[in-house]
Amino acid sequence: MTAKIINGKDIAAKKRIAIAVEVKKLKSKGVTPGLAVILVGNNHASLTYVKSKEKACRELGMNSLLIEMPEEVSEEELLSKIEELNGDTKIHGILVQLPIPKHIDEKKVIESISPLKDVDGFHPINIGRMMTGQNTFLPCTPYGIMVLLEESGISIAGKNVVVVGRSNIVGKPVGQLFLNQHATVTYCHSKTRDLKLHTNQADILVAAVGIPNFITAEHIKEGAVVIDVGINRNEAGKLCGDVAFDEVSEKAGYITPVPKGVGPMTITMLMYNTLKSANESIDR
Ligand code: NAD
Repeated sequence: MTAKIINGKDIAAKKRIAIAVEVKKLKSKGVTPGLAVILVGNNHASLTYVKSKEKACRELGMNSLLIEMPEEVSEEELLSKIEELNGDTKIHGILVQLPIPKHIDEKKVIESISPLKDVDGFHPINIGRMMTGQNTFLPCTPYGIMVLLEESGISIAGKNVVVVGRSNIVGKPVGQLFLNQHATVTYCHSKTRDLKLHTNQADILVAAVGIPNFITAEHIKEGAVVIDVGINRNEAGKLCGDVAFDEVSEKAGYITPVPKGVGPMTITMLMYNTLKSANESIDR
């Protein structure tokens, strides 16, 4: 079998057109969705991510506010900036680009963002809402994965889903979203014994590990849907995922490539969440 490619770039482009239409409608009511992004320090990768978020806002007609703070900024100063943004009615989404310097308590920072503006979906209140199936901001990468499957016409109820990786931003929440849609979910991680035993049962396999070529053809069942979340560099410095694409695509039914797979969906869902927040702000 040669896998069908799930083209995240095309699906993201389609979603962005729909978002731009909604932004226009909202603007005609006098509200422009606004996203504030706080960047602490000089992490090169973070700066690249932040710039792409700004660009996406511009393209969709939203306002973006980039706040750059020096590496040595105090926790107090950062928290006070977040407090200011929590009260700013022109700002509907607040995001602190992670990682932040070690002297600042990441948990405190995440919890200081108003759950009403937590467009990353990282606040414990929003995670609790996600777990209990309530209206909330879903974390962007996991949400993007669910949209990729929906747009590809892949059903989830009753399927065996195996998630490799248990980070708070990808692995754990994506498993929960699959459970919410009635899948039978298994989490695998660095302490899992006999990984293949589990992954070979997967109708849908999500790889969020951060190791190039970690998932090979041996790990997957014939015809499985393989979602590759990894963003890595191989030995030659080329961008690659966690899945050995060439061999796995010979066996899988569907596969997401890297690049142009999950990646473009993350920022798209961030834009969607910011629009949702702006829409909901009208009723408050
Ligand atoms: P992380 O480093 O926080 O977590 C990695 C997970 O892999 C851990 O839970 C660990 O238990 C598991 N793991 C490590 N070794 C393993 C092993 N031998 N067997 C099984 N599991 C093992 O990573 P993360 O933040 O979830 O990111 C994972 C990857 O996804 C990275 O490459 C990251 O760059 C990428 N990522 C992509 C997007 C996107 O938008 N596409 C967003 C976030 C992260």
